[in-house]
Amino acid sequence: MSENKDPQKFVYDFTEGNKDLKDLLGGKGANLAEMTNLGLPVPPGFTITTEACKVYLESGEAPTALRDEVSAHLSALEARMGKQLGQADDPLLVSVRSGAKFSMPGMMDTVLNIGLSDASVVGLATQSGDERFAWDSYRRLIQMFGKTVLGVDGDLFEEALEDAKAAKKVTVDTDLAAADLKKLVKQFKKIVETQAGREFPQNAREQMDLAINAVFDSWNTDRAKLYRRQERIPGDLGTAVNVCSMVFGNLGPDSGTGVAFTRDPASGHQGVYGDYLTNAQGEDVVAGIRNTVPLADLESIDKKSYDQLMQIMETLENHYKDLCDIEFTIERGQLWMLQTRVGKRTAGAAFRIATQLVDQGLIDEAEALQRVNGAQLAQLMFPRFDDEAKTELLGRGIAASPGAAVGKAVFDSYTAIKWSRSGEKVILIRRETNPDDLEGMIAAEGILTSRGGKTSHAAVVARGMGKTCVCGAEDLEVDTKRRRMTVGGKVIEEGDLVSIDGSTGKVYLGEVPVVPSPVVEYFEGRMHAGADDADELVAAVHRIMAYADRVRRLRVRANADNAEDALRARRFGAQGIGLCRTEHMFLGERREMVEKLILADTDDERESALAALLPLQKADFIELFESMDGLPVTVRLLDPPLHEFLPDITELSVRVALAESRKDANENDLRLLQAVHKLHEQNPMLGLRGVRLGLVIPGLFAMQVRAIAEAAAQRKNAKGDPRPEIMIPLVGTVQELEIVREEADRVIAEVQAATGTDLKLTIGTMIELPRAALTAGQIAEAAQFFSFGTNDLTQTVWGFSRDDVEASFFTAYLEKGIFGVSPFETIDKDGVGALVRSAAEAGRATRPDLKLGVCGEHGGDPESVHFFHEVGLDYVSCSPFRIPVARLEAGRAAAQSRGSDSR
Ligand code: ADP
Ligand code: MG
Ligand code: MG
Repeated sequence: MSENKDPQKFVYDFTEGNKDLKDLLGGKGANLAEMTNLGLPVPPGFTITTEACKVYLESGEAPTALRDEVSAHLSALEARMGKQLGQADDPLLVSVRSGAKFSMPGMMDTVLNIGLSDASVVGLATQSGDERFAWDSYRRLIQMFGKTVLGVDGDLFEEALEDAKAAKKVTVDTDLAAADLKKLVKQFKKIVETQAGREFPQNAREQMDLAINAVFDSWNTDRAKLYRRQERIPGDLGTAVNVCSMVFGNLGPDSGTGVAFTRDPASGHQGVYGDYLTNAQGEDVVAGIRNTVPLADLESIDKKSYDQLMQIMETLENHYKDLCDIEFTIERGQLWMLQTRVGKRTAGAAFRIATQLVDQGLIDEAEALQRVNGAQLAQLMFPRFDDEAKTELLGRGIAASPGAAVGKAVFDSYTAIKWSRSGEKVILIRRETNPDDLEGMIAAEGILTSRGGKTSHAAVVARGMGKTCVCGAEDLEVDTKRRRMTVGGKVIEEGDLVSIDGSTGKVYLGEVPVVPSPVVEYFEGRMHAGADDADELVAAVHRIMAYADRVRRLRVRANADNAEDALRARRFGAQGIGLCRTEHMFLGERREMVEKLILADTDDERESALAALLPLQKADFIELFESMDGLPVTVRLLDPPLHEFLPDITELSVRVALAESRKDANENDLRLLQAVHKLHEQNPMLGLRGVRLGLVIPGLFAMQVRAIAEAAAQRKNAKGDPRPEIMIPLVGTVQELEIVREEADRVIAEVQAATGTDLKLTIGTMIELPRAALTAGQIAEAAQFFSFGTNDLTQTVWGFSRDDVEASFFTAYLEKGIFGVSPFETIDKDGVGALVRSAAEAGRATRPDLKLGVCGEHGGDPESVHFFHEVGLDYVSCSPFRIPVARLEAGRAAAQSRGSDSR
C-alpha cells in the first residue's frame, strides 16, 4: 500500500482515498474517502497526508509543495461548490479536522466555519436568509479558533457566553438573537486580541493555514506524547488533516446534528440507536448543552432524511462488516455524513456481534475471533452488580481494575486494616493512594480515589492485586481529615455503605446486590449454552470458545495446588496442571514438622522429620493426580526460603526475651531463634531457595520425589492414569540439575521396583534465572521439559523486587511512559521475552522433543499469550480463572498467524 503512493503527493481529495489508507490519511480521512466512494453524501473536501505532517515536524515548516497542492485542491473545491473560501457575498466555509491513524487524546479539536470574517458573515446572513445563524456560526469560529489555534483559555469564551445568556435571562444558546450574537462576536474578538496578542485573522486562507499548522503542532502536545509512549505508538507517524466543506445543522428547526450506531453498542442488537439535536452544530449533540432526542424521533421530525439514514447505516454495516458509529448533520432537510468508524462496544456486545455477523454470513469464524479479546472475556467473568437493582449513583470515575465491591466507607488505611480485622468489609476511599496505603488496600474490598488515572498508584497496585478499583472520580470531594466525602451536596460519612464497579467506573451509595456472572456459571457447568434460560451472551461465548479451541495450537494448563482448584480448572478447560506449588503442603499443622526438619542436628532426627512428612505429601498428590487423571501434572519441588516456615523473628525474639527474664527459657524456642537468625537473609529472593534447598538439606527433595512416585504408583495400581512431571525450581546451571536428577532417578527406580510399576515420570526445570536462559542448551541435556517462570525471570532480568517496586515507583515509571504496562502484567518482549525465545531455541536444538511451557502469571495475559504462541511454546499455564482467557487468546493467536501465512 505504501509502495505505490506518489511520493510527491501531499493532498488527497476525498474521492481519491479509501479505508485502507489509514497510515497515510489517518482514520477519519480514510473513512471519509471510503464513504465518498460508496456514493454516500459526504460534504466534499480533501485530506493532507501524514507525510506532509512528518516533513513539518522534521523541518519545522510545511513542505513547499504543500501550499501549492492545497491551493489546487481548494480551487477545485471552490469550483465544485461554486463559491470561494471566505467570499464576501457568499462564502465557502470549511472545517479543519485532525485525524491520526490511531485516535489519540491531546490532538487538536476541530475548528468549524473557517472562512467567516466581518465581511463574509454578512454575505452568509444574506445567502441563508438567517442573520442569527450567520452570527452564531461566526461566534463559534472565533471561539474554536481562539481556543485551539491561538491557545486562548476556552473558559473566557464560555463565561462571556454564559453572561450573555444571563443578561437575557435565557438558559440555552438558541434563545440568543442575532443582535446578542453580534455583541458576543465583538467580545470574543476582544478576548482574542488581549489574550493572543493579535487580531482574529480576517483572511480566510490565513485562517485555514494557521489551523492546518496547528493540527500538525498538536501531534507533539504533552498529552499526545505521553499517550503514545504508553501505548507504544511510534512518535513519528504524524497526523493527517482533513479540510471539509461545511454543512449546517444550525440553520433552524429543519436542520440538526446527530450521532448514531448501526447496532446497540451495549447489547449488539440491530436497531435504531443514537441521539439527535435540532438546530445545532458539531459537538452540541454530545456536549449536553441542550436535551437531545432519541434518534428514532427523527422519523417524525424528518421522515425523508430518517429513511435515508437507515439505508446508509445498512450499507455501512454490510460494507465494514461490523458495528459502525457515525456522525451526521441535516441541513434544511438534506442529510450529510460527516464521519464513520468501526464503533466501540461493551464486552458483552463484542461477543454477541461477532456471532451475529457470522450468522449473517458477513464474517467467518476466524474473523469472529479477531472481533473479541481476552480482556473482554475477563470482564464478563467478574461478578457484577444486579442490573435490576435500584441504585443511587454517586458519581463516576475511571474503571481501573474490574470487579464489583461493596463495603463501608473508610478514609484511611489504618481504619481499613482495623475494621477488616474485625470482619467488616470496607472500601478504602482516598484522594490518591501512596505506598503507605498498601496494607489498607490489601485489607479493603475495593479502592476508590478522586484523583489520578489508569496509571495512578491506586490503579496499578489494585490491578496487580486483582482488586476492584475506581480511580479519578472527580465529582467526589474527599476530605480525609474529617473522614467523609461530599458529592453534589450529599455527605458520605465513615461507615456508610458504598458500592463501586471497577468495570464501569460507577460509584453507588448503599449496598448494590451482586450477581454471579452468567459466563462463569456457564464455565462452571451450572448453565448450559443450549438451555432455555441460557442468555444470548452465554450462547455467543460458547460458540466463540469453540472456534478458539478448534484452531489453537497452544495448550492451556492451570496453576493449581489442590484437588478443588484442579477440578475447577478442568471445568474451565484446563489440559493439565502446569504448576503445582508444594509449599502450602508444609504449612498449617505441618509447620511443626518442618521446624523439626530445620532444627534437626542428626541424620536420625532429620530422617524422622522427613518420614513424618512423606505420607502427608503422598496423600496430597494422590488426590491431585486423581482429579487430573489422564492429564499432565507438573509438581514443583519446594521453592521458597525455609525461614518462611519459621516463626516471625521479632515475635520469637520477644517471646524468648520475656521467657529469659522470667528465667524459664524454653529450650526449643532458643534453638528455633538460633535457626531463625541463621536463616535470616538480607535478600531472601536471591538466597537459599529453590534447587539450592534441595542441594543443601539432605533428603528433602528425595522425600518429595518419593511422595510423587509412590502416589503415582498407587493411582496406577488403582487403574488410574497419573501423569506427573517433576519440576526443579531456580536452576542456574546444569550441574545443579544433574545432581538433583541422579537422586530423583534413584528414588523413582526404587519405587518402581517396589511397586512393580512403570511410572514414565519426566523431570524438567523451571527457567527463571537469566543464567538458566543463557545456558539453556546445556540445561536441556538434563531436562525433559522447560517451564518458563516468567515472574521470577522478570524480577531477575530487570533487577526488580516485585513487591517493592510495584507499590513504590511503578506509578512514576508508568507516568513517565517508561513502560505502558507493568512488565509483571504483560511480558517484556524485548528483554525477558528475548531470553524466552533464545532459551526455547537453544533447548530444542539440544533436545528436539523438549516440552516447553510457561507458568508465570503472564500465561493468562492476552498479549503475552500471543507472544508465547509466536515463539513456539507448547502450553501456557495460568490460574484457573484465567484459563478461558488463555484459551481464547491462544485461538486468536493461531487464527491470526494462519491469516498472515496465507496472505
Ligand atoms: P472528533 O474527532 O472530535 O469527532 P470531528 O472532526 O469529527 O472531531 O468534528 C467535531 C464535530 O464537528 C463533529 O460533530 C462533526 O460532525 C462536526 N463537523 C466536522 N466537520 C464538519 C463540517 N464540515 N460540517 C459540519 N459539521 C462538521
Ligand atoms: Mg467526530
Ligand atoms: Mg520462581
